[in-house]
Amino acid sequence: MARQGVRKTVRCYNCHCRFEVSARAMSTSCPGCHKAVIVQDIIVTGLKTTQKLQTCGRVVVKSRGRIMAGKIEAHSGLEVQGALHADVTSGGPVVIGPKARWKGDCKAPTLEVHLGARIESGFFEVPYGAAADEK
Ligand SMILES: [Zn+2]
Repeated sequence: MARQGVRKTVRCYNCHCRFEVSARAMSTSCPGCHKAVIVQDIIVTGLKTTQKLQTCGRVVVKSRGRIMAGKIEAHSGLEVQGALHADVTSGGPVVIGPKARWKGDCKAPTLEVHLGARIESGFFEVPYGAAADEK
């Protein structure tokens, strides 16, 4: 390794294997399934509409951001300060901010909903609770 950068471990959303990438990488080819995978964090600051959003990183919806997607898979977590309309599967903590509007299902290891957040509809599955973070 000639260039030593900060590295992070991510989990492939196709085959679910774990591997290391440079923290600055945007996408890479997964060593497990050899598919191209997005590993960067996705920051939403405006309106974003898409069918499917997948990343090994985090998805962050800023206060002026609005995301409308069929499905979101964020393997390192998701934070919403703006509006979200999607079915979310997260591999990391989901944070719903005090001014956030949420519509859609959510499956995440931990969930943090701030006072003031609006959840209009959705089926929430949080199988482990906050204790999973306190290992
Ligand atoms: Zn893979």
